[in-house]
Amino acid sequence: MKPYQIKPDSKVDLSKHDPGDRREFEGSKEESLLELKKLTERLGELQELLYAENKQRVLVVLQAMDTGGKDGTIRRVFVDANPKGVRVASFKVPTPEELAHDYLWRVHKVVPGNGELVIFNRSHYEDVLVVRVHNLVPKQVWSKRYEQINQFERLLAENGTTILKFFLHIDLDEQKERLQARLDDPAKHWKFRLGDLDERKLWPDYIKAYEDAFEKTSTKYAPWYVIPANRKWYRDLVISRILVETLEALNMEYPKSEENLDGVVID
Ligand code: AMP
Ligand code: MG
Repeated sequence: MKPYQIKPDSKVDLSKHDPGDRREFEGSKEESLLELKKLTERLGELQELLYAENKQRVLVVLQAMDTGGKDGTIRRVFVDANPKGVRVASFKVPTPEELAHDYLWRVHKVVPGNGELVIFNRSHYEDVLVVRVHNLVPKQVWSKRYEQINQFERLLAENGTTILKFFLHIDLDEQKERLQARLDDPAKHWKFRLGDLDERKLWPDYIKAYEDAFEKTSTKYAPWYVIPANRKWYRDLVISRILVETLEALNMEYPKSEENLDGVVID
């Protein structure tokens, strides 16, 4: 799954990353769903092992444009995970209390502890994305944040956290269809904000801000992946594979009993 990983210090031009790409799966959509089931079940086993071992921590960062599919990814990729060891942290417009602190304060409070897998639905990257696009703080403030974020993520990584960062990459046409679908379905109106249409006009500014973030913050210890996300099934398949491969490489083990269980008989 390396094709989608952004190499540290490389230039990123998102127009060269096709949101409709599907080169890692030859089969049909139907076949992909069988493959996805195997992967989500394996992910469930690995997450159980992470929880049982209680030594390591996993952080999954999800970023995307509006309608990019963060919620659907969480629902479908983690369908076989055990809620006991998995937590979702969503980052909204900061509260007055959050704004009274540095921008990483609210983030550091919710990072995973031992045995936990935490999914960030948006993240500290909003502080170099929406904040930058809307000039919510001066450039001299946000431009320092890339290095601060790298230092923060390095701290987490050096203390036992495996970090994966996914950008769900859709194009303008796909967003139009998904916004229209939200508008057409009263059950989806709660997800539709008129403000999303203003954000849509700022698409090129967001792309630029994302490209900069990938160039400056894709590191060995916290890599970015740009995931083709126009096809939901392909997006789910690719992310599940990356997660399974990454968790398998952690070489986790079930803890041994602290007692000697040899010859124990249950009457
Ligand atoms: P949603 O994810 O659709 O519920 O929307 C959450 C909103 O909060 C989005 O419009 C984000 O851009 C916004 N948001 C998240 N973090 C920040 C931040 N640090 N500063 C300003 N807005 C933010
Ligand atoms: Mg929204």
